[in-house]
Amino acid sequence: MYCSVISAGISGVEAVPVYVEADVSRGMPGFSIVGYVSSQIREARDRIRAALVNMDISLPVNRITVNLAPGDLRKEGTAYDLPIAAAVLMAMGKIRPDALKKTMLLGELRLDGTIGRVNGVLPSVMTAKAIGCKNCILPMENTAEGRVVEGIQVLGIHNLSELIAYTKGEIPPQTVVAEKKIAECYPVDFGEMQGQEMVKRAVLIAAAGFHNILLSGPPGSGKSMAAERIPTILPELTEEERLEISRIHSIVGLLPEGEALVNRRPYRAPHHTITGPALCGGGVSPRPGEVTLAHRGVLFLDELPEMDTGVLEMLREPLENRRITVSRLGGSCVYPASFLLAAAMNPCPCGYYPDRSRCRCSPVEIRRYQNRVSQALLDRMDLYCEVQEATYQEISSGRRDEMDSAKMRRMVSLAGEYQRERYCGTAIRFNSEIPAGEVRKYCVMTEEASRMMEAAFRHLRLSGRGYFHVIKVARTIADLAGEEIISEDRIGEALCFRSPDRNVIERFSPTCV
Ligand SMILES: [Zn+2]
Repeated sequence: MYCSVISAGISGVEAVPVYVEADVSRGMPGFSIVGYVSSQIREARDRIRAALVNMDISLPVNRITVNLAPGDLRKEGTAYDLPIAAAVLMAMGKIRPDALKKTMLLGELRLDGTIGRVNGVLPSVMTAKAIGCKNCILPMENTAEGRVVEGIQVLGIHNLSELIAYTKGEIPPQTVVAEKKIAECYPVDFGEMQGQEMVKRAVLIAAAGFHNILLSGPPGSGKSMAAERIPTILPELTEEERLEISRIHSIVGLLPEGEALVNRRPYRAPHHTITGPALCGGGVSPRPGEVTLAHRGVLFLDELPEMDTGVLEMLREPLENRRITVSRLGGSCVYPASFLLAAAMNPCPCGYYPDRSRCRCSPVEIRRYQNRVSQALLDRMDLYCEVQEATYQEISSGRRDEMDSAKMRRMVSLAGEYQRERYCGTAIRFNSEIPAGEVRKYCVMTEEASRMMEAAFRHLRLSGRGYFHVIKVARTIADLAGEEIISEDRIGEALCFRSPDRNVIERFSPTCV
């Protein structure tokens, strides 16, 4: 007898329906699973066999064939265990053929027949609703995540017996989770950073206009401490963003335990030895990389010059297009990757240049070290800030700084409101996204400010890209102050934070000649 049930597989950040078909027929006894499946899925047959035996159901001495369609999508993971078991039970006549109509099933099977948690439930339930399913049967641990989707019945089960009971019309007991509004919460706060006004100002501007920022300074000066706190001042998550991030995190199993949705903006800080596929996504079975996991949040790259230059170059596509295309066997998939890049570097191999009392690096070493970061990447950093080591008073005072995350976030939100109003009806969301051709339209300057920009362009030898970065950063600084026309002061501050041009570094480093 032939039977079919519905499940789902992940392709990119979307779930696509997968039809699990089972056939029990006469012939050489055996159990085979076909349909472009990974070895994990082939192993499902042993799990199912053991689980059924432990439930006192023996497999028939017949030929059992399971097919997972469509055949061009590679299927992997353990979420197909439950649908395969259901299809086999149906083909054996243990479940009525019409009992699981318009029902999507997902779940991992343990040897004793219990059903375990799986990844990718949120996008799968969304797909179930889109293709007209009325019910979803999920592992009990995943039900909170599934119930986020409205308009579809989500049922949690503990084991296979409950599935069989359900098909006979008995509803297994459900644990009802009281609905609560998820508040954003962060374990860190800018209030813990004493002083460091310059860095705080730089990250405030970065957060307000979603500008990429490069921090340079000696080890232990608080570069990563500042970067880690940027998500705490970014605008509060909208419901749409929360769902978008949760879907991605659901696929890789990063949703917080027991929570249905994410409760904070992502902060990803991969180690500098990270590989290309881990950073940008890919692999035999493509998986989102760090740039996608940081979507709508912060990607922090510490020790920038230590990173593989080839890997760093891969960042150009997501920085330019805010998404990344990953090629794979038989096609490609596109992952979203709109993140704020915060990068940090030491000024020299030892980290203490220009403090010559501590730094013994030779000019050649310093230049070679700084040259490891390509000009192309430096060109994409809108803001640059040199971080000074905290003074003794700052460290020892033990007070909480007045400029804490709540205060900074209020300032960012205000600047965000100006931007929303200005870019209403366009594709632009933040000042950092203004196309070069429209800078003149959105960044109106006073006459003095224009003259200052002209002088800066000539004397500081700004590149074309650098010139536009300065104006866009000045736009954000003006927004923070609630001003529509950009004044000389705003341009002046933006110039202080301009990204370093390699030629400029070399010209102004006296020991480097
Ligand atoms: Zn040094």
